[in-house]
Amino acid sequence: MAAKIIDGRKIADKIYDELYGRIEFLKIKGILPKLTVVLIGDDPASAVYVRMKAKACEKLGIESETLTYPADITQDEIIAICDRLNADNRVHGILVQMPLPIHLDENAVIERILPEKDVDGFHPVNKGKLQSGLDTFLPCTPFGVQKMLQYSQIETSGKNVVIVGRSQIVGMPLALMLAQKTEGANATVTVCHSRTKNIDFYTKNADIIVAALGQPEFITAKMVSNHVIVIDVGVNRVDAPGTEKGYKLVGDVKFDEVAEKVRAITPVPGGVGPMTIAMLMYNTVKAAKS
Ligand code: NDP
Repeated sequence: MAAKIIDGRKIADKIYDELYGRIEFLKIKGILPKLTVVLIGDDPASAVYVRMKAKACEKLGIESETLTYPADITQDEIIAICDRLNADNRVHGILVQMPLPIHLDENAVIERILPEKDVDGFHPVNKGKLQSGLDTFLPCTPFGVQKMLQYSQIETSGKNVVIVGRSQIVGMPLALMLAQKTEGANATVTVCHSRTKNIDFYTKNADIIVAALGQPEFITAKMVSNHVIVIDVGVNRVDAPGTEKGYKLVGDVKFDEVAEKVRAITPVPGGVGPMTIAMLMYNTVKAAKS
């Protein structure tokens, strides 16, 4: 039986519908939410993500600004930009698009942004709050995954969630979020990574699998049971000779064969990606409110 397709674009639209009212309310109070995105260098994928973020702001009536700088910007210069944006009261959210050119210290940049403007949720203060179960800016991709499960009425409480990937921006924060003693969480979480032996053992026994490892079509039908729900975070560019672009985007899950077997699955594109942007908008509105 073919799986239910969880449509990230539709769920993101529901989040936007909720945000419109909150933005109007802020505007009545004289607050115009503003997001400033800093883009360094000429990585084409980063440029695409930044454009998508600006488009979402435009759609919602959030002010947005993209500051672009050449790849040879110095660490002192980027720190000075963070300081200027921190001091600017009109800027509520600051996002420095990652990855940065190799000579720049990403952690130092993240730590320089004021935690109350860190709409990416990457600052150590915000990470610590997440770990402690305190109110904070949740990192957009894991937050999007959690919201997606909630909006799709997929129960996490008491379920076995297997996350493949333990990065600081997806796997680890998602594990912390889903293991919390809160609504939309209460899961038993297993985190698999490149040193995990027999990943199939975990994925076959999961109620929910989140694939976030950055390996094209890694999760195959053989690795999953027929009752599982699969959330595919991966975005991988693979060659597609004969197509206009010469490449296509695939997830970390072999979609066609897995979708034939499981209960529900997210597509790539159109799954987690739109949710990540929606939660960035959510965090920007939250930053403007506080
Ligand atoms: P990272 O490369 O930072 O982390 C990958 C993780 O997967 C690591 O923990 C790594 O293990 C693990 N891993 C890699 N290969 C294997 C393997 N063969 N078996 C088991 N585990 C493995 O990736 P990100 O978390 O940044 O991104 C993951 C994917 O999600 C990428 O495709 C990325 O493009 C996508 N992404 C999508 C977003 C969206 O909005 N849709 C947003 C962010 C990311 P170890 O720690 O041992 O090295």
